[in-house]
Amino acid sequence: MINLFQKVPVEANNKFSVSMVDNTTVEAVFYGTGTLCISTQAGCHIGCPFCLSGTRGLFRNLTCDEMILQLAAAKGKGFDIKRVTLSGIGEPLYNLENVLPFIEHCQKHNFPASLTTTGGPLKNFEKILQFPHNGLMISLHAGTAATHRKLIPGGPSFEELWQILTKALKNISRRKRRKIGINYLLLEGINDSTVELDKLSALLQPFSDLTLHLLCCNTAPTHFFRSPSPSRFEAVYHYLRTMLPNVRRSNRWRQQEYGGCGTLLVYPD
Ligand code: SF4
Repeated sequence: MINLFQKVPVEANNKFSVSMVDNTTVEAVFYGTGTLCISTQAGCHIGCPFCLSGTRGLFRNLTCDEMILQLAAAKGKGFDIKRVTLSGIGEPLYNLENVLPFIEHCQKHNFPASLTTTGGPLKNFEKILQFPHNGLMISLHAGTAATHRKLIPGGPSFEELWQILTKALKNISRRKRRKIGINYLLLEGINDSTVELDKLSALLQPFSDLTLHLLCCNTAPTHFFRSPSPSRFEAVYHYLRTMLPNVRRSNRWRQQEYGGCGTLLVYPD
């Protein structure tokens, strides 16, 4: 039986850990395409059941300097960083006071910065939609409110999220709309039914500039959640493409056991 919270050497897949002055340690990961994925919180309270990062809840927010420390650690490892994404451990919108200065820091140092969010808290979601970012990925993982609640229990209301997004999309430039994406982690038997996919497509059809990112679940020994087989995954991708103009699949760098998305860990002191 593997102890999930025992530190293991993971450098082989470019995942690395960074210790803070209070000995809290968080993981970050560098993807071979040049993207550095950093963590914004030590732990997470959202409780997505497919994700290991929030298994033990939230310990604390990371400061802007602690995010800069992760960037410095990645540089120290010689990674050829081309862009930064705040998509590691944590919900960045619950730590906006540190996240916004960090995004500005990245921009000042010529690293385009994007982030991944569940959209909560909604007042900060409205703010970030207007903020100059280089990509905003909204983790939805559902076409219905019931599935959304199951997969993102501590996230915002599905209906209110869509109301805010719909209103905002009408008022922002096309260039900015094209930087917004919807993440859909495809999970076998959970959100891969035709009914769920049709509902998702109906929601997205009015917004042809948005990109739908179909993601593959990184497995872990304690995970109950799995993505469907590669052939079923491909079939879903092609099915969605018949209804939506912009659908993309996870790139291979993000598909790795203990490789990043959903598998980054925090070690509180
Ligand atoms: S997927 Fe993101 S928001 Fe959900 S528990 Fe993991 S770190 Fe938190």
